[in-house]
Amino acid sequence: MSHSSVDVVVVGAGAAGISGAVALAELGLHVVVLDEQGSPGGQIYRGITLAPLSRRDMLGPDYAHGNELAQALASSSVRYEKGAAVWQVTREHEVSYLREGRLHTLQAKAVLLATGAMERPFPIPGWTLPGVMSAGAAQILLKSSGLAPSEPVVLAGCGPLLYLLGWQYLRAGVPIKALVDTTRPDDYWRARRHLFAALRAWPYLRKGLELMRSLRSARIAHFTGAEQLAVEGDEAARALTFTVAGKAERIATRCVLLHQGVVPNIQFSQSLRARHHWDVDQLCFSPVVDSWGELDVAGVFVAGDGAGIGGAQAAAVQGQLAALGIAVRLEKLSDAQRAFRAEALRARLASNLRIRPFLDALYQPKEANRIPADDVMVCRCEEVTAGELRGFVALGCTGPNQAKSFGRCGMGPCQGRMCGLTVTEVIAKARGVSASEVGYYRIRPPIKPITLGELAGD
Ligand SMILES: Cc1cc2nc3c(=O)[nH]c(=O)nc-3n(C[C@H](O)[C@H](O)[C@H](O)COP(=O)(O)OP(=O)(O)OC[C@H]3O[C@@H](n4cnc5c(N)ncnc54)[C@H](O)[C@@H]3O)c2cc1C
Repeated sequence: MSHSSVDVVVVGAGAAGISGAVALAELGLHVVVLDEQGSPGGQIYRGITLAPLSRRDMLGPDYAHGNELAQALASSSVRYEKGAAVWQVTREHEVSYLREGRLHTLQAKAVLLATGAMERPFPIPGWTLPGVMSAGAAQILLKSSGLAPSEPVVLAGCGPLLYLLGWQYLRAGVPIKALVDTTRPDDYWRARRHLFAALRAWPYLRKGLELMRSLRSARIAHFTGAEQLAVEGDEAARALTFTVAGKAERIATRCVLLHQGVVPNIQFSQSLRARHHWDVDQLCFSPVVDSWGELDVAGVFVAGDGAGIGGAQAAAVQGQLAALGIAVRLEKLSDAQRAFRAEALRARLASNLRIRPFLDALYQPKEANRIPADDVMVCRCEEVTAGELRGFVALGCTGPNQAKSFGRCGMGPCQGRMCGLTVTEVIAKARGVSASEVGYYRIRPPIKPITLGELAGD
């Protein structure tokens, strides 16, 4: 096992991680960025340095913007390690990762967690059938290798990423059979009180409207206010069924792409036993951080979507703010110097976040698509259904951690990443208490799967 010391380890080479790392290096700190992907860019700019020009063009200008970020990383003094899967971060700033089958540990003076977001689970009947994927996973295939379904797809759910993928598929010539939107008129009603602030973020709003307009002008069947979604099929997906205003609809398809927003990836902040809170607008847990992104674990900072969903531009600014916070901790800047540098960044952050309350209200996922019926699978790794979970509650199970001992829920290879939120919400509803009272899985390393051989090899 290799073991060395650095000033700062940044986990994640997305918008937040790269911006933070470059800013730290400019302050004269020795910085290492670790990311499990094979190239920098994170989710939004995935594969940007490897994508041919035609793919960049097809994915749109927001994607191409990632090139600037990747260039900044390449021309900085930051040591970037690709293919580095971080499986442990300790409260003493020790970061362990697996790269090319070997274990490495870095001892840092401070750590910046910039691990981004994950898609929210979409547990509806049939969601585990072959032929059903998340829209984010489909987009990963498109970005990283230009792969797309050859058969007509049905996109279902809500949120900007769903419409963005639809727009990207149109440009890529992928046939779209229908867009099944769960957004209802009352969602627009709820979001209207944030409309004024959203109008002040006009470029974001305009982008969204353009996506919707291009989908409409391509004459794709568009259903809104869809309820009771279910994927039909025995061995594989055959159709998506749903109702609109009480009328039953059925669209035959072998490919259903589901999406209902993204939530912070809190695996590391949870494993560090940092404080978290239940975000009532985004319906998820987020770590509690101070205005520089520092957790209640000294010297560990979080920036970007991992601290609460704000989008790529906000993530980049948060990375820079966290860098200023770290610089003060490591005595590279005084408080006054930090305050001066932060002023413009804070104004930019506020402007980047202006659209958020509107989006959160408009695309709040429906309870029926978050808290499923008894026969729906919740933990895919260990095959635990919502009904079994409710059975555990009836026997006295009070939260996700007890659910592990009752039925191995959340103990599979994904370590609860896929089912965590659903398990919390199912239990909370069954007990008649808040999600915040029920809490989340107690996450422990290894955060990423690691074989005994790899561990023993060293
Ligand atoms: C599947 C998906 C697709 C998305 N696509 C878009 C899009 O096209 N457009 C858009 O505007 N927004 C998109 N988003 C939202 C987007 O993630 C963010 O707004 C933006 O990328 C946030 O930047 P970030 O730096 O916080 O995190 P990210 O860009 O997500 O970067 C996080 C990085 O951390 C790395 N990482 C995580 N865990 C580990 C670990 N244990 N070890 C090593 N590395 C690790 C990841 O590989 C990743 O590169 C997407 C989100 C998801 C989940």
